[in-house]
Formats: sequence, structure tokens, C-alpha cells
Amino acid sequence: MSTKRLTFELKIAPRVSVNDDECEFPVNRVFCVGRNYAEHAREMGNDPERDPPFFFLKSLDALVPGGGAIKYPRATNDLHHEIEMVVALGRSGSDISQSEALDHVYGYAVGLDLTRRDLQAQAKKMNRPWDFGKSFEQGAPITGITRASACGHLSTGEISLTVNGKVRQMGNLEEMIWDVPEIICFLSKFYQLEAGDLIFTGTPAGVGPLQRGDKLVGHVSGLSTLSVDIF
Ligand code: MN
Repeated sequence: MSTKRLTFELKIAPRVSVNDDECEFPVNRVFCVGRNYAEHAREMGNDPERDPPFFFLKSLDALVPGGGAIKYPRATNDLHHEIEMVVALGRSGSDISQSEALDHVYGYAVGLDLTRRDLQAQAKKMNRPWDFGKSFEQGAPITGITRASACGHLSTGEISLTVNGKVRQMGNLEEMIWDVPEIICFLSKFYQLEAGDLIFTGTPAGVGPLQRGDKLVGHVSGLSTLSVDIF
């Protein structure tokens, strides 16, 4: 480690609180699974066959630990909500088998994979990467992490999002096309997964646009509630 002073301090603080604990979880990377609920795949115009899962990443400055007020992002007129269960890895590994995958999970959280849908649609149409649609400042609000030792491993349970008190998204974790062990096993063939990696596990049907002034409340049963206000 160099002892030279930094030219400036980074303003990002990629760490997420751990519920019922003094410690904080340092974040290494943010992976996201695409189209992992059949109904959502259909609403996006895709056939939810069991093709291998696919992934994209968000930069660390997307994280908004604890949620709260966030600014409607620049360069879009079609910001969409995607409520997701998030897996937090506490142990590194590659080529992880499904049977050992859950040993790598530190805990679970609730997150929003906010999406600049117009930019994503444009990228899709031109066969370009999704980064501008998916990876941007404050594009990934997330609750504190509940340790797996406290909540158990989650494979079933309600996942929902209300906007201004109205239910927009409602599903169940058991509807995921690829479950958590399968996701970890698959991803670990392509990456050396590290403690500190987060994986957003996909969103149920009902995604839609947000406006300034909207109040979002996201739930996954057994986890803490995510509240986000758009201004
Ligand atoms: Mn998503």
C-alpha cells in the first residue's frame, strides 16, 4: 500500500449498514441480474425461456445506503423503478457449486435498480451496452443488510413496491427464474467473486415510470423497508 497522500478524497463511501450490528459492510462491486422473473421478462417483450442468466454492473456511486431523498437523474425522461432483493457476499470464491453457494452469502437487503429506461431502450435498439441506462449516480438505493444468520436464506416471500401508497410491483421470491444458489454458481464461473460484492437479483412485473415528488416504499418479507423520495 502506497503511503503517498491522495490528490483528493473520493466522495463515494461504498459501505452499507448491517442491521442490529455496529459494523458496516464495505461494498466491492454491484452486479445485477437481468429479467429474472417471468412476468417481468414478458412485460419487457421477451420470452422468459430458461436461457442462461445475464448480468450488468452498476458503479459504486450508484449506491444510496439507507435510501432517503434522491434527485431525479439527468438525461432521462423515463426513470423506472425495479424493486429487487439484494444478496451481499461475505466470502470470496470462484467456480462455486450450487450446494456451497449459500455459504458465501453474508446477508440480504432490499434495493432499487433504478433505470433510465429511455436510454436503455435506445442502447438495446442500437445493440450497444446498457451502462448509460443502468449505471448512474444514485441509481441503486439500498437498505441495511440483514445477516443470513438472523433472517435465514431467502428463497420465498413477498417482494413489493408501492409508489405514493399504491402497489406498483408485487411478486414472490420463489418466482425467480434463477434462484440465489444458481446465480452465485453461474456468476462465479465468470468472476472471482469477492466479499463485499452485492448482487441485485432481478425485479418482478410492474415496472414503470417515476416522477419528481414520488414516494417509494419497497418491501421484501423478513428484511428492512426501503423508503425513497424522488425530488
Ligand atoms: Mn433490475
